[in-house]
Amino acid sequence: MHIKTKMIHGGISDDSTTGAVSVPIYHASTYKQNGVGKPKGYEYARSGNPTRYALEKLIADLEGGVAGFAFGSGLAGIHTVFSTFNQGDHILLGDDVYGGTFRLFQKVLVNFGLEYSVIDTSKIENIEKEIKNNTKAIYIETPSNPLLKITDITGISKIAKKHNIQVIVDNTFASPYFQQPLALGADIVLHSGTKYLGGHSDVIAGLVTTNNPVLADKIGFLQNAIGGVLGPQDSWLLQRGIKTLSVRMEEHQKNAQMIVEFLSAHPAVAKVYYPGLVTHEGHELANKQMTGFSGVISFELIDEDKAIEFVESLRLFTLAESLGGVESLVEVPSVMTHASIPKDKREAAGIKDSLIRLSVGIEYFEDLIDDLKQAFTKVGL
Ligand SMILES: *Cc1c(COP(=O)(O)O)cnc(C)c1O
Repeated sequence: MHIKTKMIHGGISDDSTTGAVSVPIYHASTYKQNGVGKPKGYEYARSGNPTRYALEKLIADLEGGVAGFAFGSGLAGIHTVFSTFNQGDHILLGDDVYGGTFRLFQKVLVNFGLEYSVIDTSKIENIEKEIKNNTKAIYIETPSNPLLKITDITGISKIAKKHNIQVIVDNTFASPYFQQPLALGADIVLHSGTKYLGGHSDVIAGLVTTNNPVLADKIGFLQNAIGGVLGPQDSWLLQRGIKTLSVRMEEHQKNAQMIVEFLSAHPAVAKVYYPGLVTHEGHELANKQMTGFSGVISFELIDEDKAIEFVESLRLFTLAESLGGVESLVEVPSVMTHASIPKDKREAAGIKDSLIRLSVGIEYFEDLIDDLKQAFTKVGL
């Protein structure tokens, strides 16, 4: 079945009791049992909820997993996945993973004895020499944030198999519509459902799936044991969002490509980062492992000092963190999403103060370009 059809008919897309074409929102916290030890299928709603289950089955269908798991946030899902490891285990962490993932490791998981090294996963030659005796997993994000670096999922998975370590991919930026990490060799895929999957900036959620039944059992156990589950209302909202994921992603991408063309030709722009650009460092790889380039663009202004004034001059692009919603957003990573990284480390990673990140929405592209034009004029560029 094509993924466009799976988005509509995957998971559990109707209600067998009433025929309702959308899954009902089951708010019940507990379920009547037929007899002691004879539940009808659901017992207590942390362990299982029909609305959440429909979403969990859907993400598994979309990513090619054997089971899915929905959490109260992307980070709750990430935390649960890392909880499958033990004290003394070592994880290789991409150097530009989501800031919250990094914080989770640095401030929380190290206190429980997990070890990590930070590496540039987009340079595949870096990987093998960083693997230690106690390395248990490589955790990657591709495209990465905010420079849209591309990591070779197939290549890394081959190295990982050789050393018997897991590959965990944060697929938030591509969505399952544009990238299928499990098919490329990854073991676990996770998402901040808050972004493209939800798509309307109205729900915080996390999703995890795997094609390995042993890992699925572990994650399922921990989801219940730790308890960071997604509520039924939000589970329904996410399913509703996913139904239109394919049309939204196509539109995000089309608009992003028009804006990339505009920015690339603008004399006040020093550099544009977008995996769809033939001049982008990871373009060839992105072309190979993704079916589209998604809707996030970053760019640098020639004038270092104008970034803040520029984003504050935009009218249609809303100044806000986050991404993946139908409305266009803009932010300055150095002072917003990536402000917690010290300036020298930030600059070493290529995140200049003049860098601006756009999450391109699905508005009419000419209106978005007109907005950028008026902001350039307003700041005198
Ligand atoms: C937002 C985000 C997360 C964290 O998800 P929350 O839903 O905010 O907890 C993780 N990874 C990426 C790439 C993100 O953009």
